[in-house]
Parts: sequence; structure tokens; C-alpha cells
Amino acid sequence: MTQTMDSRAPNYSSADSTMRAAVVTEFGAPLAISEVELPVPGIGEALVKLETSGVCHTDLHAAQGDWPVKPTPPFIPGHEGCGIVVAVGGGVTDLKVGDQVGNAWLWSACGRCEYCRTGRETLCESQQNGGYSVNGSFGSFMIVNAAYATRIPVGADPLEVAPILCAGVTVYKGLKVTDARPGQWVAISGIGGLGHIAVQYARAMGLRVVAVDVDDSKLALAANLGAEVTVNARTADVVAEVQNATGGAHGVLVTAVHPEAFGQAIGLARRGGTIVLIGLPPGDFPAPIFDIVLKGLTIRGSIVGTREDMAEALDFYARGLIHPTVAAARLDDVNEVFDRMQRGEIDGRVVIDYRQD
Ligand code: NAD
Ligand code: ZN
Ligand code: ZN
Repeated sequence: MTQTMDSRAPNYSSADSTMRAAVVTEFGAPLAISEVELPVPGIGEALVKLETSGVCHTDLHAAQGDWPVKPTPPFIPGHEGCGIVVAVGGGVTDLKVGDQVGNAWLWSACGRCEYCRTGRETLCESQQNGGYSVNGSFGSFMIVNAAYATRIPVGADPLEVAPILCAGVTVYKGLKVTDARPGQWVAISGIGGLGHIAVQYARAMGLRVVAVDVDDSKLALAANLGAEVTVNARTADVVAEVQNATGGAHGVLVTAVHPEAFGQAIGLARRGGTIVLIGLPPGDFPAPIFDIVLKGLTIRGSIVGTREDMAEALDFYARGLIHPTVAAARLDDVNEVFDRMQRGEIDGRVVIDYRQD
């Protein structure tokens, strides 16, 4: 009898001792594309050979040391990685070699604290973050925690599914916590990697979309994806236009990378509306007390999603309702991708395709 190999099991030999990765060696400096030691999966972990990894603006914030809590160089960014398990560490019973999995920003959590116990594991104070506190997916291999690794749905396209692992789950959860109902308006400010996927989830959830960005090509993409109204915040009076078109949005989702969009978002909401802040540019914004109180507004933050949110977000993808706009790149191009992201020149998401190398 002929033995068939799992067609998915990629070339990997336990004799391999190094891998190629893009490493942050110093904040603000270009990433070093270098050979680094191949990690060995510990107890409860798995080693994954990457097929693809999305490039999130968070990776750029990480490489620039933009946030108050900073990672420690040298580190490997990347938290939208999709690949195949090639080895498992001790005690792993629910993942096996050949399984297709992803990493995520929520790389692991403690499972025991008040937040973990109450279905709010994204608030766990002992969480580890992929591509930030632990090495991520900008390399040919990565380690995942078997209990938190994302199970990729059968038949997924590795290029398309990668952005769901951060951008998708984040905007899906963010839209849920706007509390907007089918038929109501949601304003999405920032139509980049996150925002263009948010338009698609919003439509799939029965919401009406008004899209706001500072770049007409992003707005054209939003219109193609089903936004009924688009407004360029650089050239138009965005508050007046959104209020005229919708009477005020029931929900507002801010994924923009400029603090100005955050203050502006308050003006886009309908009385009683909810403004969900997702973008993470360094800085702050003015919040007019009178308007917030008299209009009964809710302003809340939202950070990625739980494993359950991830499963739900992937289910929308698996049912063909979400198609991220992706452009493939090579790991060697990552610094150029960061430059284009900084200048706001990327439509949709750039995804590193390791299968080309
Ligand atoms: P991106 O670079 O792909 O997109 C940013 C978009 O913001 C671009 O389309 C840009 O034109 C637009 N923009 C810039 N200034 C604007 C303004 N004044 N008004 C409206 N739009 C404006 O970035 P991304 O990968 O989509 O990430 C967006 C932000 O979300 C980043 O700060 C990232 O760190 C953050 N993020 C947060 C979470 C979370 O869980 N809260 C998860 C992932 C990413
Ligand atoms: Zn991200
Ligand atoms: Zn916890």
C-alpha cells in the first residue's frame, strides 16, 4: 500500500537550526532581515511554518516604539500569521503536525484572572501579545500557544485569511460594541487595512455604512465594498456631511491613525450613539463635555477580540462574506511596506507571502 503524505505538511527538518526573519533591533530603524535561531516549542506550544502574514499598522507602531508600554528589541513583529504546524511541544493534545493555524495579538492570557474568568480575556493583565511581547510572524517560522492559536477554517486562502486574524476580528468586535442594529448607520473613520474590512463586516451585519478617510482612493474602495456615503475629511466638512446624510450615525468606529479623527468622531454620532475607538495613534483628543452629556453619548475603547470573537469573525469569512483586498509582498520588502504604510499609500492590506521564497 502506498503511503500518502499530508499534502499540507511543508518541508521542515528537525535538523534546521536557523530561520529568516525581519527583526526590530532599534526603535525607528529599518528592520534587519537576518538569520535567527529557530525557536523550539515549549510545553503547550507549537512551531508553525508560515505561509503568510499580514502587515498591520500596529507592527509599525511596535517598530517605532510609539506606545507607553514598549516591546524590548530585538524582537520579531507580526500578529496576522497563518501557517502549518510542524512540531508540537509537550502536553499539546489538541494541535498536531499539519494543522493550519494562526497567531494573533492575543497570543495567550492567564485563564485565571477576573477578566479571563468573565469572558474578557483581551483585558487580561498577564496576556502575551504576538509580535510584541513574544516574537511574531515576520519570519519563516513562529511559536504559537496551542490553547490560543487560531484555527484556520478549511478551504481558506492563506493570503485573504491573514488580515482576518487582527484587522478582521478587531473591527468585527468593534462593530458589535457600537450596539448598532441592522438597518442603522455606522460611520467608519479610517478606511485602511482595518477600515476596509470593517465596511464588509458592517454590511454583512446589516448596517448602513458611511465611510470617512483623508484619501479618495480609500473612499473609492469603501464605495465599491458597499459604503452608501463617503466623505473626505480633508476636503469636506465631515461633521455636517455625515449629519446631513444620516441624521447622525448610531455607531462610530474609529480606525484612523491620526488623533484628529478621534475628536471629529464625536460629532458624527447621533444622540444616544456609541463611538468605539480602535486606532492607536500616539496622542489625545478634545472631548466636548457639553455635547457628550447632553447627547447621551458613549465613548469606549475596544481591543482586538476574544478567541470566541475570532471564531465568529472567521465564520463570516468562511461563508464568503468577507474578502480583504490584499497585495502580496516578500519578507525582504517589509521596510518598503512600512514606508508606504506611513505615507498612507496602501489600499487594503499588504500580506507577506512566504510561499514565494
Ligand atoms: P492603515 O495604515 O492600514 O490605515 C489607516 C487609515 O487611516 C488610512 O486609510 C489613512 O488614510 C486613514 N487616516 C489617516 N488620517 C486620517 C484622518 N484624519 N481621518 C480619517 N482617516 C485617516 O492602518 P490599520 O492597519 O488599519 O490600523 C489602524 C490603527 O488601528 C492603527 O493605529 C493600529 O495600531 C490600530 N489597531 C488597533 C487594534 C485594536 O485592537 N484596537 C487592532 C489593530 C490595529
Ligand atoms: Zn494588528
Ligand atoms: Zn487573565
